[in-house]
Amino acid sequence: MSSADTRIGLVVRGHGRHYLIEDEDGVRVHCLTRGKKSDCVVGDRVRWKRSSDHEGVIESVEPRRNLLFRQDEWKTKSFAANLDRLLILVAVDPQFSESQLTRALIAAESAGIAAEIILNKTDLPGANAARERLAPYRAMGISVLELSLKGQKDASRAALSPLLEGQATLVLGPSGTGKSTLINLLIPDAQAQVGEISHALNSGRHTTTTTQWYWIDSERKSALLDSPGFQEFGLRQISAPNLASYMADFKPYLGDCRFHNCSHRHEPGCAVLTALEAGKISPSRYRIYDELWNELSSPPKY
Ligand code: GDP
Ligand code: ZN
Repeated sequence: MSSADTRIGLVVRGHGRHYLIEDEDGVRVHCLTRGKKSDCVVGDRVRWKRSSDHEGVIESVEPRRNLLFRQDEWKTKSFAANLDRLLILVAVDPQFSESQLTRALIAAESAGIAAEIILNKTDLPGANAARERLAPYRAMGISVLELSLKGQKDASRAALSPLLEGQATLVLGPSGTGKSTLINLLIPDAQAQVGEISHALNSGRHTTTTTQWYWIDSERKSALLDSPGFQEFGLRQISAPNLASYMADFKPYLGDCRFHNCSHRHEPGCAVLTALEAGKISPSRYRIYDELWNELSSPPKY
């Protein structure tokens, strides 16, 4: 079949073999993949073709700029493609997990996606302690935007809008951090957008697990992606020897290790271990590196 028969569309929702595709004019069409394959994800650009008045078929997936994976219990699954930015939402309360934060940053770095941290609920006591826990991340050049999403709506919107403009941004936040507050602040019709998509795909009951694509602006230039139920990034696509190169605080030392294939765990002349001892790398980050190294160098559990 020639590509002249097909059109390019954006995947805004998927479950199983069922996808909702948006064409260049913003019109949404329910599409199926061929056979049993379900290998595209939200954010993909696909070539599709009409199969009836109301439906289409996805013929192929266009090359991706990047692809992210999530860890669902023991399975690693791709869930979003072609992102520009990752916003990692953490809060003063509940206390954030540095391990989850580090996984997110590694996933972004290895996929070539810009990442930023938002510290929410800075109105609460304990804000200083949270700031301190984030100090190593600021020191490695990651921007930390402090917000109080609930009480300071206008200021929050003003701070977030320039970050999001013209981009596809995945927002990530463990439950209770204020992710719904953020989405509702930026996208007042978020519920309606989800409802419309679920109706088109007849997939209402899946809204708690599937990635949602929200347009922020009516010109459809800026998008926010939410992946409900998200716990952890899958990092299996990364090999253990490459892990350190995705950790911004380790990077400056990597060229100075005695062995070029240093694992930075026990080798003599390791510049990372020297930096750790000198207090230039935080012990918690090093511990997470060590855990991840073990995870990535052991066979999958299933
Ligand atoms: P989600 O579980 O991440 O979607 O979080 P929600 O947006 O539902 O927020 C969880 C709770 O935190 C709710 O009770 C919010 O009202 C509250 N919350 C959200 N933002 C702030 C904030 O800036 N300050 C304070 N003190 N509470 C907030
Ligand atoms: Zn080393």
